[in-house]
Amino acid sequence: MSQTNPPRTTPLSPALSAARGPDGRDAGLAALRETEVWVFDLDNTLYPASCNLFAQVDRRISEFIAGHFGIPFDEARTRQKQFFRDYGTTLRGLMVEHDVDPVAYMDFVHDIDVTGVAPSPLLTEALDRLPGRKIIFTNGSVKHAANVAGRLGIADRFEAVFDIAAADYVPKPDPRPYATLVERFGIAPARACMVEDIARNLAPAHALGMTTVWVRGEQDYERAGVGAGLQIDHTVDDLPSWLAAVAGLAG
Ligand SMILES: [Mg+2]
Repeated sequence: MSQTNPPRTTPLSPALSAARGPDGRDAGLAALRETEVWVFDLDNTLYPASCNLFAQVDRRISEFIAGHFGIPFDEARTRQKQFFRDYGTTLRGLMVEHDVDPVAYMDFVHDIDVTGVAPSPLLTEALDRLPGRKIIFTNGSVKHAANVAGRLGIADRFEAVFDIAAADYVPKPDPRPYATLVERFGIAPARACMVEDIARNLAPAHALGMTTVWVRGEQDYERAGVGAGLQIDHTVDDLPSWLAAVAGLAG
């Protein structure tokens, strides 16, 4: 009799549901290779939060509000946070209450320096080797996604970017853009995976039947809902390494 621990059980069934473990624990990666469609969030998911791009965007949002209303930066910041609390995104509040042009807003707030994002050859290779269609689903813009993905070296690895304009400016986690995404791209949710750093954005994906992958974040807004009934099938700290493992790459 061997005294060594048995190897981790790999589900025999290729069905994606078999990859789900209790309490969100990983119960095997091989079944994930059967995924037909990978839906990736962009910010703090395809690049690590440590790049801190959001700090730049956050500041640009305050500057936009200051310029739009002709008010001091500190006052703009207060209004920004109020919009965020009341509407889920600052843009939503600006559109509903002040009829702000969303294209001008998105162009302004995403006019940032992305050189803090390091190219990721491992992510590039993992995406190349990973079977299945890949789509970016972001509350940002196509232009921002192209900017960041270009820096990462993964710009042409995706079939499409489903951005906030495609979502009629209704942001995640409202369930409506998820439904639109599924319909527009002919996605069978039971054979799809969604990858996100903001845990609550995974809830509508789970409700549709998708496998959920949380890229563990440290901010309160990223963690909200975790451990409170939110269904997370896989928790990931290093997305490139995890995707490489799913794709069957060594190391
Ligand atoms: Mg994100």
